[in-house]
Amino acid sequence: MTRMPALFIGHGSPMNLILDNDYTKGLKALARRLPRPEAICVISAHWMTRGSTFISCQPSLRQIYDFYGFPDALYSIRYEPPGHPALAKRALELLSGASKACACNESWGNDHAAWSLLHHMFPEADIPLFLISIDMAAPLHRHLAFGKALAPLREEGVLFIGSGNIVHNLPQADFRNMEAAPDPRGVAFDEAVKEALLRQDVETLAHYDRLGEAARYSVPTPDHYLPLLYTAAMRQEDDELEFTCESFQNRSVSMRGLMLGAGD
Ligand code: ZN
Repeated sequence: MTRMPALFIGHGSPMNLILDNDYTKGLKALARRLPRPEAICVISAHWMTRGSTFISCQPSLRQIYDFYGFPDALYSIRYEPPGHPALAKRALELLSGASKACACNESWGNDHAAWSLLHHMFPEADIPLFLISIDMAAPLHRHLAFGKALAPLREEGVLFIGSGNIVHNLPQADFRNMEAAPDPRGVAFDEAVKEALLRQDVETLAHYDRLGEAARYSVPTPDHYLPLLYTAAMRQEDDELEFTCESFQNRSVSMRGLMLGAGD
Protein backbone atom coordinates (compact mmCIF):
# COMPACT_ATOMS: atom_id res chain seq x y z
CA MET A 1 0.00 0.00 0.00
CA THR A 2 1.37 3.43 -0.87
CA ARG A 3 1.74 5.98 1.88
CA MET A 4 -1.22 8.32 2.24
CA PRO A 5 -0.56 12.06 2.26
CA ALA A 6 -1.12 13.82 5.59
CA LEU A 7 -3.02 17.09 5.70
CA PHE A 8 -3.55 20.09 7.89
CA ILE A 9 -6.62 22.09 6.90
CA GLY A 10 -7.89 25.39 8.25
CA HIS A 11 -11.66 25.03 8.70
CA GLY A 12 -12.65 28.58 9.62
CA SER A 13 -16.26 29.66 9.87
CA PRO A 14 -19.06 27.10 9.55
CA MET A 15 -20.52 29.44 6.88
CA ASN A 16 -18.09 27.75 4.47
CA LEU A 17 -20.42 24.76 4.62
CA ILE A 18 -22.86 26.48 2.29
CA LEU A 19 -20.53 28.74 0.33
CA ASP A 20 -19.02 28.17 -3.08
CA ASN A 21 -15.84 30.24 -2.74
CA ASP A 22 -12.14 29.82 -3.55
CA TYR A 23 -11.62 28.03 -0.25
CA THR A 24 -14.39 25.43 -0.72
CA LYS A 25 -13.46 24.98 -4.38
CA GLY A 26 -9.91 24.34 -3.18
CA LEU A 27 -11.08 21.62 -0.78
CA LYS A 28 -12.92 19.83 -3.57
CA ALA A 29 -9.92 20.08 -5.89
CA LEU A 30 -7.60 18.80 -3.17
CA ALA A 31 -9.78 15.74 -2.52
CA ARG A 32 -9.73 14.82 -6.23
CA ARG A 33 -5.94 14.57 -6.06
CA LEU A 34 -5.88 12.12 -3.13
CA PRO A 35 -5.73 8.34 -3.30
CA ARG A 36 -8.90 6.82 -1.86
CA PRO A 37 -8.27 6.24 1.87
CA GLU A 38 -9.27 3.16 3.87
CA ALA A 39 -10.27 5.57 6.62
CA ILE A 40 -9.99 9.24 7.50
CA CYS A 41 -8.71 10.32 10.91
CA VAL A 42 -9.37 13.92 11.94
CA ILE A 43 -7.41 15.43 14.82
CA SER A 44 -10.09 17.85 15.93
CA ALA A 45 -9.70 21.35 17.36
CA HIS A 46 -13.28 20.98 18.59
CA TRP A 47 -12.78 17.83 20.65
CA MET A 48 -10.94 19.33 23.60
CA THR A 49 -10.18 17.10 26.55
CA ARG A 50 -8.06 17.49 29.68
CA GLY A 51 -5.70 14.83 30.95
CA SER A 52 -6.36 12.25 28.22
CA THR A 53 -6.32 11.90 24.47
CA PHE A 54 -9.45 10.15 23.26
CA ILE A 55 -10.19 8.24 20.07
CA SER A 56 -13.62 7.48 18.67
CA CYS A 57 -13.46 3.69 18.27
CA GLN A 58 -17.20 3.16 17.74
CA PRO A 59 -18.73 1.70 14.52
CA SER A 60 -20.75 4.86 13.87
CA LEU A 61 -20.23 8.41 15.05
CA ARG A 62 -22.95 10.82 16.13
CA GLN A 63 -22.89 13.98 14.01
CA ILE A 64 -22.45 17.04 16.22
CA TYR A 65 -23.68 20.53 15.27
CA ASP A 66 -21.22 22.25 17.58
CA PHE A 67 -21.85 25.82 16.39
CA TYR A 68 -24.60 28.24 17.32
CA GLY A 69 -26.51 31.10 15.75
CA PHE A 70 -25.95 30.19 12.10
CA PRO A 71 -28.56 29.90 9.31
CA ASP A 72 -30.92 26.90 9.45
CA ALA A 73 -29.45 25.47 6.25
CA LEU A 74 -26.27 24.51 8.11
CA TYR A 75 -28.17 22.39 10.62
CA SER A 76 -29.92 20.34 7.96
CA ILE A 77 -26.69 19.04 6.40
CA ARG A 78 -26.29 15.35 7.14
CA TYR A 79 -22.85 13.81 7.11
CA GLU A 80 -22.84 10.34 8.59
CA PRO A 81 -19.99 8.09 7.46
CA PRO A 82 -19.30 4.80 9.24
CA GLY A 83 -16.59 4.55 11.90
CA HIS A 84 -13.58 2.24 11.64
CA PRO A 85 -13.10 0.51 15.03
CA ALA A 86 -10.17 -1.64 13.85
CA LEU A 87 -8.04 1.25 12.56
CA ALA A 88 -9.09 3.45 15.50
CA LYS A 89 -7.82 0.75 17.88
CA ARG A 90 -4.57 0.54 15.88
CA ALA A 91 -4.24 4.30 16.40
CA LEU A 92 -4.80 3.82 20.14
CA GLU A 93 -2.14 1.10 20.22
CA LEU A 94 0.37 3.45 18.53
CA LEU A 95 -0.51 6.41 20.78
CA SER A 96 -0.14 4.21 23.86
CA GLY A 97 3.53 3.80 22.94
CA ALA A 98 3.99 7.57 23.42
CA SER A 99 1.78 8.07 26.49
CA LYS A 100 -0.54 5.97 28.65
CA ALA A 101 -2.99 8.88 28.88
CA CYS A 102 -5.12 7.80 25.93
CA ALA A 103 -8.23 5.69 25.49
CA CYS A 104 -11.24 4.92 23.30
CA ASN A 105 -14.18 7.16 24.09
CA GLU A 106 -17.66 7.10 22.61
CA SER A 107 -19.05 10.23 24.23
CA TRP A 108 -18.13 12.57 21.38
CA GLY A 109 -18.61 11.97 17.67
CA ASN A 110 -18.26 13.67 14.32
CA ASP A 111 -17.87 17.38 15.07
CA HIS A 112 -17.70 20.20 12.54
CA ALA A 113 -13.89 20.27 12.49
CA ALA A 114 -14.36 16.98 10.64
CA TRP A 115 -17.62 17.11 8.75
CA SER A 116 -17.45 20.74 7.61
CA LEU A 117 -14.36 19.75 5.58
CA LEU A 118 -15.44 16.26 4.56
CA HIS A 119 -18.82 17.49 3.33
CA HIS A 120 -16.90 19.31 0.57
CA MET A 121 -14.09 16.80 0.08
CA PHE A 122 -15.93 13.46 0.18
CA PRO A 123 -19.61 14.33 -0.23
CA GLU A 124 -20.66 10.66 -0.51
CA ALA A 125 -19.79 10.15 3.19
CA ASP A 126 -18.77 6.59 2.37
CA ILE A 127 -15.21 6.60 3.74
CA PRO A 128 -14.95 5.44 7.39
CA LEU A 129 -14.05 8.18 9.86
CA PHE A 130 -12.60 8.37 13.33
CA LEU A 131 -11.50 11.35 15.42
CA ILE A 132 -8.74 12.05 17.90
CA SER A 133 -9.17 14.63 20.67
CA ILE A 134 -6.72 17.30 21.75
CA ASP A 135 -5.54 16.95 25.34
CA MET A 136 -5.32 20.59 26.36
CA ALA A 137 -3.38 19.67 29.51
CA ALA A 138 -0.61 17.78 27.68
CA PRO A 139 2.84 19.31 27.35
CA LEU A 140 3.41 20.67 23.83
CA HIS A 141 6.03 18.08 22.90
CA ARG A 142 3.50 15.30 23.52
CA HIS A 143 1.43 16.48 20.54
CA LEU A 144 4.53 16.05 18.39
CA ALA A 145 5.18 12.63 19.89
CA PHE A 146 1.61 11.58 19.14
CA GLY A 147 1.86 12.76 15.54
CA LYS A 148 5.08 10.82 15.11
CA ALA A 149 3.59 7.72 16.74
CA LEU A 150 0.55 7.79 14.43
CA ALA A 151 2.54 8.27 11.21
CA PRO A 152 2.89 4.52 10.40
CA LEU A 153 -0.88 4.38 9.84
CA ARG A 154 -0.33 6.45 6.70
CA GLU A 155 1.15 3.22 5.26
CA GLU A 156 -2.10 1.43 6.18
CA GLY A 157 -4.38 3.70 4.18
CA VAL A 158 -5.28 6.30 6.83
CA LEU A 159 -5.67 9.87 5.65
CA PHE A 160 -4.83 12.11 8.61
CA ILE A 161 -6.30 15.59 8.71
CA GLY A 162 -5.27 18.00 11.44
CA SER A 163 -8.25 20.38 11.49
CA GLY A 164 -7.92 23.78 13.14
CA ASN A 165 -6.57 27.19 12.13
CA ILE A 166 -3.00 28.50 12.45
CA VAL A 167 -4.35 31.99 13.25
CA HIS A 168 -7.66 31.87 15.13
CA ASN A 169 -8.64 34.96 17.09
CA LEU A 170 -12.44 35.00 17.32
CA PRO A 171 -12.77 38.14 19.51
CA GLN A 172 -10.99 40.07 16.72
CA ALA A 173 -12.91 38.45 13.85
CA ASP A 174 -15.09 40.42 11.45
CA PHE A 175 -17.98 37.98 11.10
CA ARG A 176 -19.84 40.20 8.64
CA ASN A 177 -17.00 40.30 6.14
CA MET A 178 -15.22 37.10 5.20
CA GLU A 179 -12.96 39.09 2.85
CA ALA A 180 -11.81 41.59 5.50
CA ALA A 181 -8.11 42.47 5.19
CA PRO A 182 -6.06 40.37 7.63
CA ASP A 183 -4.42 41.96 10.66
CA PRO A 184 -0.63 42.34 10.17
CA ARG A 185 0.03 40.42 13.41
CA GLY A 186 -1.89 37.43 12.02
CA VAL A 187 -0.05 37.67 8.71
CA ALA A 188 3.32 37.79 10.51
CA PHE A 189 2.52 34.71 12.59
CA ASP A 190 1.14 32.76 9.64
CA GLU A 191 4.30 33.60 7.70
CA ALA A 192 6.59 32.57 10.59
CA VAL A 193 4.79 29.22 10.83
CA LYS A 194 5.09 28.75 7.09
CA GLU A 195 8.85 29.39 7.29
CA ALA A 196 9.23 26.96 10.20
CA LEU A 197 7.36 24.30 8.24
CA LEU A 198 9.58 24.86 5.21
CA ARG A 199 12.77 24.39 7.24
CA GLN A 200 11.24 21.45 9.18
CA ASP A 201 11.72 23.31 12.45
CA VAL A 202 9.26 21.49 14.70
CA GLU A 203 10.78 23.05 17.83
CA THR A 204 9.66 26.51 16.69
CA LEU A 205 6.26 25.08 15.77
CA ALA A 206 5.87 23.52 19.23
CA HIS A 207 7.13 26.62 21.04
CA TYR A 208 5.08 29.06 18.97
CA ASP A 209 4.59 31.22 22.07
CA ARG A 210 8.18 32.43 21.64
CA LEU A 211 7.01 34.32 18.54
CA GLY A 212 5.89 37.15 20.82
CA GLU A 213 3.10 39.62 20.10
CA ALA A 214 2.17 38.00 16.77
CA ALA A 215 1.67 34.68 18.58
CA ARG A 216 -0.37 36.26 21.38
CA TYR A 217 -2.70 37.80 18.79
CA SER A 218 -2.90 34.68 16.61
CA VAL A 219 -3.21 31.95 19.22
CA PRO A 220 -5.17 33.38 22.16
CA THR A 221 -6.06 29.76 23.00
CA PRO A 222 -4.10 26.84 21.53
CA ASP A 223 -7.00 24.52 20.55
CA HIS A 224 -7.04 25.44 16.83
CA TYR A 225 -3.26 25.61 16.54
CA LEU A 226 -2.35 22.25 18.12
CA PRO A 227 -3.69 19.97 15.33
CA LEU A 228 -0.92 21.42 13.16
CA LEU A 229 1.71 19.79 15.41
CA TYR A 230 0.30 16.32 14.70
CA THR A 231 0.51 16.78 10.95
CA ALA A 232 3.96 18.41 11.07
CA ALA A 233 5.29 15.52 13.18
CA MET A 234 4.07 12.96 10.62
CA ARG A 235 6.53 14.19 8.02
CA GLN A 236 8.79 11.49 6.57
CA GLU A 237 12.15 12.21 5.00
CA ASP A 238 10.93 11.88 1.41
CA ASP A 239 7.61 13.72 1.91
CA GLU A 240 7.20 16.83 -0.14
CA LEU A 241 5.45 19.79 1.49
CA GLU A 242 2.83 21.70 -0.42
CA PHE A 243 0.67 24.58 0.82
CA THR A 244 -2.80 23.75 -0.42
CA CYS A 245 -4.39 27.02 0.70
CA GLU A 246 -2.90 30.39 1.68
CA SER A 247 -5.50 32.95 2.66
CA PHE A 248 -7.35 34.57 5.53
CA GLN A 249 -11.05 34.85 6.30
CA ASN A 250 -12.89 37.21 8.65
CA ARG A 251 -9.69 39.24 9.28
CA SER A 252 -8.26 37.04 12.04
CA VAL A 253 -8.55 33.44 10.78
CA SER A 254 -5.80 31.89 8.67
CA MET A 255 -7.07 29.31 6.21
CA ARG A 256 -3.57 28.00 5.47
CA GLY A 257 -3.58 24.31 4.62
CA LEU A 258 -0.81 21.91 3.79
CA MET A 259 -0.18 18.48 2.38
CA LEU A 260 2.74 16.18 3.12
CA GLY A 261 3.51 13.59 0.46
CA ALA A 262 2.48 13.87 -3.14
CA GLY A 263 -1.25 13.74 -3.82
CA ASP A 264 -0.81 12.95 -7.51
ZN1 ZN B 1 -13.16 25.71 14.65
